[in-house]
Amino acid sequence: MTVKAQQYPWMLAPARRLLQDMARLPHALLLTGPYGLGKTAFAAHMAEMLFCGHPDSAALSVCGQCQNCRLLAAGTHPDLQWVAPAEAGKAIIIDQIRALAEFLHLRPHIGLRKIVVFAPAEAMNTNAANALLKLLEEPPPDSLLMLVSSDPARLPGTVRSRCQRLTFPLPARDEALAWLRTAEGFPGGEAELLLDLAGGAPLRALELAREGFLPVRNDLLADLEALGNGKTDPVSCAARWKAHGTRRCLEWLEGGVMDLIRGSMAGSPGTRTNPDLRERLHVLQKRLDLNQLFRFLETVTGGRRLLGGPLDELLLVEDILIRWTRLARQK
Ligand SMILES: [Zn+2]
Repeated sequence: MTVKAQQYPWMLAPARRLLQDMARLPHALLLTGPYGLGKTAFAAHMAEMLFCGHPDSAALSVCGQCQNCRLLAAGTHPDLQWVAPAEAGKAIIIDQIRALAEFLHLRPHIGLRKIVVFAPAEAMNTNAANALLKLLEEPPPDSLLMLVSSDPARLPGTVRSRCQRLTFPLPARDEALAWLRTAEGFPGGEAELLLDLAGGAPLRALELAREGFLPVRNDLLADLEALGNGKTDPVSCAARWKAHGTRRCLEWLEGGVMDLIRGSMAGSPGTRTNPDLRERLHVLQKRLDLNQLFRFLETVTGGRRLLGGPLDELLLVEDILIRWTRLARQK
């Protein structure tokens, strides 16, 4: 696996800070912050800057000509390793960490140091994390480990505490919108809708657009309405939601329920994440009980956090939609 280095405008200041003091670069960095900011591309960019023989530290760009740059561009730099699950959704396993130990104890081939990027680091299973812990306890010389994680709570505290943490905040809304409009060409209204649905994370917004998620929300809301009216059942809905992608459906549901809660508390059809669905959400909101909505939100949030674990996704969504059906049919 290799990830293309990118310089997103909201990542420039942290990059500058990190590169300013190369002498004090730690052995291990934990790059955290919400999903969809470009943390992995940031790690790739840092690797480029650290390997290049003639980097431009003002422009934060590399020469593109030296041996390091050419090997990086070809994805064959011998001093850089990426550690990722063999398949999406699977774990990083101990064999991958063991192979790394050998790599790290050799001297750098052509660079000044060896760099390893773990992405997503929280995919490490317990055995792999324990093996990594040994490396972190006695860091091999001339090496930099970068752990990229949007969910660092899933890493053992012992691993986290041995890394210097760099947390990326969400970019300012204006900056993210400007990027979606100019760099990616989304019209103004659509950029706002996507960014709100993505919780403010610009690359997540881009991903939602590429996945064609905007129209999917209509189907999800129609299912919620139909469940309340007894026109469909949770089991067939759950199968549809799984086909749409469980994670993004539950993320949307979480935002939608927060919209309903906000609307309910304000006594008006307030919606931050689905302004185009305002009227339909308002109709729904009028027959829901606020206390029960809060409880349902906990269920959705809890369920979303279980994703990626050993649980059966379909059963999880079924359970959530059964609870929704009870909630929506009460009044
Ligand atoms: Zn170079």
